[in-house]
Amino acid sequence: MATTIAPKRDDLLRGLRQSGGVCLMFIDGAFSAASDGGTRKLINPSSGEVSAVVAEGTKEDAERAIRAARQAFDSGPWSDTHAQDRAKLLFKLADKIDEHFTDLSRLETLNNGKPVRETEYDVTDAANCFRYYAGLATKPHGETFDVPAPSQTFVVREPIGVCGQIIPWNYPLLMGAWKLAPALAAGNVCILKPSELTPLTALLLATLIEEIGFPKNVVQIVLGTGPVVGQHLAQSPLVDKIAFTGGTKTGRAIMLASTGNLKKVTLELGGKSPNVVFADADFDTAVDYALFGIYANSGQVCSAGSRLIVEESLHDKLVSKIVERAGKIRVGDGFDPETEMGPIVSRAHQEKVEAYIALGKQEGATLACGGGRLPGELGEKGNFIMPTVFTNTRRDMRIVQEEIFGPVLVVQTFKDEAEAIAIANDTIYGLAGAVFTNDIAKAHRVIRKLRAGITWINTYHPTYNEAPWGGYKQSGSGRELGTYGYDSYTEVKQINVNLDVAPSGWFSD
Ligand code: NDP
Repeated sequence: MATTIAPKRDDLLRGLRQSGGVCLMFIDGAFSAASDGGTRKLINPSSGEVSAVVAEGTKEDAERAIRAARQAFDSGPWSDTHAQDRAKLLFKLADKIDEHFTDLSRLETLNNGKPVRETEYDVTDAANCFRYYAGLATKPHGETFDVPAPSQTFVVREPIGVCGQIIPWNYPLLMGAWKLAPALAAGNVCILKPSELTPLTALLLATLIEEIGFPKNVVQIVLGTGPVVGQHLAQSPLVDKIAFTGGTKTGRAIMLASTGNLKKVTLELGGKSPNVVFADADFDTAVDYALFGIYANSGQVCSAGSRLIVEESLHDKLVSKIVERAGKIRVGDGFDPETEMGPIVSRAHQEKVEAYIALGKQEGATLACGGGRLPGELGEKGNFIMPTVFTNTRRDMRIVQEEIFGPVLVVQTFKDEAEAIAIANDTIYGLAGAVFTNDIAKAHRVIRKLRAGITWINTYHPTYNEAPWGGYKQSGSGRELGTYGYDSYTEVKQINVNLDVAPSGWFSD
């Protein structure tokens, strides 16, 4: 193994506001400890060592942030600022992220474990997300309608208000950008709650936001667990919108908790996405993207291509190549420059993935490769699972139906186009899907039949700030990114103007 390029832990944490070695959250314009002094130790998923200690926010901390946000929105200057001024701040934030590119990517690797080459990509993508929405803020958002004279009707978009934004641990900084950028561009105020497992890059982002000089309480970062802090944000009558990315079960709980004041809810949830490969596909491209689709970020991706649905005649050749290539993937510490696939985010999640692997064997699927932990000392300390492939599966198996969220590919087969589509749509999810074929008409026919919000032809995973992201069925509700993401942070107001100012005469004088 090559020498690790891990910077010293203390150097990485230097950019964060700390008190007595505890990284602080950002509430009411100040970096604060938890109301009860509670803390949490974060664990480096590659080494099992403590990477940082952070404040563990409470319900009281969440409430303090909510009240500060409410006041900032109702009487602060932010929602009345000109879009140009909001754009300027967002452009500055994008530039600051670029300036802190190395710190942010290394901090993300320390916290989440993913390889530096992935975290570098995430940081660039996050900066570009802020830049995209900075540009969009000043573009036209209204509409006018020709209605019967003497009226003129037009529509303006206005901010929703206080937005609670609950994000997961698989793309901590990037998910923060996806949530904050459109919301701020549209003039909302935000309370961001990172996952309790991976809050470090959000805390560095808070210091950048403070440095740039965003008005007070336009962005607050509250730490703490989902069931305490996340739940309180979802329940609070003072919060106008919740935007959530995470598991489907949690999404359901958030939707229920939000009913009290019927707040707007956007949910980006799980998936069990089909990657359909026809026998006429470009073989090397299909192999390459099958691997990338499932093993990028160790399979901890909502849109992962976790079901490979392959035409029967190609099955043996495709699977044997995938198994051969999966066996060569270099699994290791995210700071090792040779690492291609990092650890699972936590020991608890590793055990959940392992339980699914055991279940797959019990259900009678064939383990074609992987299935175990990384051998050796690193594998003992960190949460590593080797790239895994199951063949000989049935549609009703739980490993085929449920989201595993790890490096586990299940292979299914089909005889013809109709069966491929039926299998592809046969789960409760509908987030993403892909088709590989050299027959472009067939590719389009199949894609149009997929019940999924994000689809690819002859590729897997590319994601663009410009295009909408979100799912059909139980993969979510609403869309993020692009103009759709901006719209989801706005209320639509109809304005009717009487161009002939005179009494209507409806009632007699
Ligand atoms: P969760 O969905 O529970 O966590 C995502 C975010 O929601 C975190 O910030 C979490 O906080 C918060 N949260 C948890 N419970 C509540 C609640 N009751 N009210 C409000 N917020 C809450 O994901 P898990 O980490 O438990 O993973 C479970 C499964 O979800 C995974 O195995 C995977 O299948 C799926 N998942 C999907 C993701 C996606 O991108 N679609 C991302 C992550 C997970 P905290 O972590 O601090 O408790």
